Amino acid sequence: MSNKIAVLPGDGIGTEIVDQAVKVLKALGTPFEMEFADVGGVAYANHGHPLPESTLKLAREADAVLFGAVGDFKYDKLERHLRPEQAILGLRKALGLFANLRPAKCFAQLTGASTLRPEVIAGLDILIVRELTGDIYFGTPRGRRTAVDGHFPGTPEAFDTMRYSVPEVERIARVAFEAARKRNNKVTSVDKANVLETSQLWRDVVTRIGREEYPDVTLEHMYVDNAAMQLVRAPKALDVVLTGNIFGDILSDEASMLTGSIGMLASASMNDKKQGLFEPSHGSAPDIAGKNIANPLATILSAAMMLRYSFDMNEEADAIEKAVEKVLAAGIRTGDIMSEGCRKVSCSEMGDAVVAAL
Ligand code: NAD
Repeated sequence: MSNKIAVLPGDGIGTEIVDQAVKVLKALGTPFEMEFADVGGVAYANHGHPLPESTLKLAREADAVLFGAVGDFKYDKLERHLRPEQAILGLRKALGLFANLRPAKCFAQLTGASTLRPEVIAGLDILIVRELTGDIYFGTPRGRRTAVDGHFPGTPEAFDTMRYSVPEVERIARVAFEAARKRNNKVTSVDKANVLETSQLWRDVVTRIGREEYPDVTLEHMYVDNAAMQLVRAPKALDVVLTGNIFGDILSDEASMLTGSIGMLASASMNDKKQGLFEPSHGSAPDIAGKNIANPLATILSAAMMLRYSFDMNEEADAIEKAVEKVLAAGIRTGDIMSEGCRKVSCSEMGDAVVAAL
């Protein structure tokens, strides 16, 4: 491992928040080789493409990608393949990032920020493991045609295909079971096996992998509609939630909102070589860009995930997470998580505070 990081700040608040994460990484004293490149709208403006070949090459050669955010409403009228958001899809595809890990953790000091009652979410710590490269989002055939059957034959219709192969389910199941071993040894696999053929295969494969390779990890199955309900009813009963692409898309957003603050949520997308793309769950927030008021903690916590999952630097990852907790405990807040009696700081001051706490 060369500890090489491709740093792609992107658009909007991307540069402001990534700067803080870089500051924190540098403060660790570990020699990382960091190289910066354009991605998203800024890459389109400078190179004519949201994911230029030079950026892609850098990402491929790096051990990890630290990503800010992409997108700006001024690019909304571009053709789809030139839109900033296409850069993320391109990176996922090029690096084979099939596993998305999204923790939903409620920091003790922020329980008041949730729309749920404090006792429901205090101490919450869930990890959603979502398959990212298959399912109905990528399944073929898809398209539009004239219906030959169904309720209205002869009328225009559209269709998509939900599909999963056995190896696709095996590899994402292993990611979830491995993660569970580092946590509380419990996986809840979410599907819709009572209705969907794809889900029945999913359930069969996850059950077999659990039985044969991870007998020490408790496995339970849950239908997706029930999972959506349990996430708001009793989320603390969940630990690692394993799910496919479309269900995971919806459930991970639902889970992330339990904590009440989008500026706090980290995310990692991994391949089977431990290469990963680490980014905050939020977007480029064009409404607050350039004002030095964004919350950089999601990006800083994503950098901690990078250390844990791509570099096996658990101690350093723990140190960053503890520094964030310390800063929150000291009542230091950016505007989005501000509450009475706390001290409001800018984006860069928040970065400085985490460095000081480290
Ligand atoms: P957004 O997440 O950028 O912003 C939603 C709201 O949350 C805004 O009010 C914003 O000010 C606030 N917010 C977001 N991050 C914050 C932070 N760190 N600190 C404080 N407040 C924060 O979502 P949006 O407004 O729907 O999208 C804006 C752009 O971002 C769009 O172009 C969209 O396509 C893009 N987007 C990119 C990604 C990504 O890069 N992964 C993800 C989602 C959206």
